[in-house]
Amino acid sequence: MATDFDLSCPVPLAAHERIVLPHGGGGRLTRELLDKVFVPAFANPALDARHDSALLEAGGARLAFTTDAYVVHPRRFPGGDIGTLAVCGTVNDLAMAGARPLALSAAFVLEEGLAMDELRAVVASMRDAARACGVPLVAGDTKVVDRGKADGMFVTTSGVGIVPPGADVRPARVAPGDVALLSGDVGRHGIAVLSVRDGLAFDSPVESDCAPLAEPVAALLAGGVEVHCLRDATRGGVATVLNEMARDAGVAIEAEEATIPVSGGVAAACEILGLDPLYVACEGRMVAFVAAADAARALDILRGHEVSRGAAIIGAVAEPGAGGACGTVALRTRLGTRRLLDLLSGEQLPRIC
Ligand code: MG
Repeated sequence: MATDFDLSCPVPLAAHERIVLPHGGGGRLTRELLDKVFVPAFANPALDARHDSALLEAGGARLAFTTDAYVVHPRRFPGGDIGTLAVCGTVNDLAMAGARPLALSAAFVLEEGLAMDELRAVVASMRDAARACGVPLVAGDTKVVDRGKADGMFVTTSGVGIVPPGADVRPARVAPGDVALLSGDVGRHGIAVLSVRDGLAFDSPVESDCAPLAEPVAALLAGGVEVHCLRDATRGGVATVLNEMARDAGVAIEAEEATIPVSGGVAAACEILGLDPLYVACEGRMVAFVAAADAARALDILRGHEVSRGAAIIGAVAEPGAGGACGTVALRTRLGTRRLLDLLSGEQLPRIC
């Protein structure tokens, strides 16, 4: 009987009955978790925008609000530690909404037995990073769990920022013709963490790129660049950011592999480890989608700031009918071929941030 067939083929609510590490990897399974568990439960316009920060209005002010948990392992790595990440990561998520960071909060989950010296060092890193960003840490919480019930220390930070007049930075604004700029070389954070985790010694040691991006973002906006969207390339790297933008804005993106900066150290490490640097996490890099007419000026502005000195134009949003299907990213490779740059199915590097 025809009614026995349901061609809509509903996917089971959870393909996995338990959480697996790739649910936290930022790739396909993270997206599935959002789509099937979190977004249906909490659906509202600010959340549904799928931005790095929620955009809210209160008393005439436009606010950005975000939160992030940090579980990086090991907690210290070349170029920073969990404290540096906890401040820069949240400041960057505010900046990705065009916001100037106003204040942060921090919640610590500490395991019994954690060395007080290590906690002091992490707190000092957070203080230094917050000072460098010019943002105060104004609220916090501490919980302690039994020995063996947490892996030393987890930190969660939340942040609130103020969006300057005229700025309208969100995924829905990404449109055909927009140019995609990347603020610097990719993959350094992931490789830096991996090098200490696995005790790998590379010929040229790789330092994390962990850094705040609020300054170059403020400069783009103050310089009158028509910024349509910004996203920091954290878990899943620049390839994941491009995919998220293509899907959330419903556009096709074309990127050029040869224009994406990769340092020699990262390239060599990826070669040895069999990783694609386009999927390796950064913590101080962003992709900016700007109006084509402003792309050259945006590049100049980015290159004028130390953190985005290595900026490059890496692609564009295809005109309808000219590129691939909506929601996809096409990469022109160094060999001149075209391939689909997809979301990662598994997790390349767990607990990277
Ligand atoms: Mg982000």
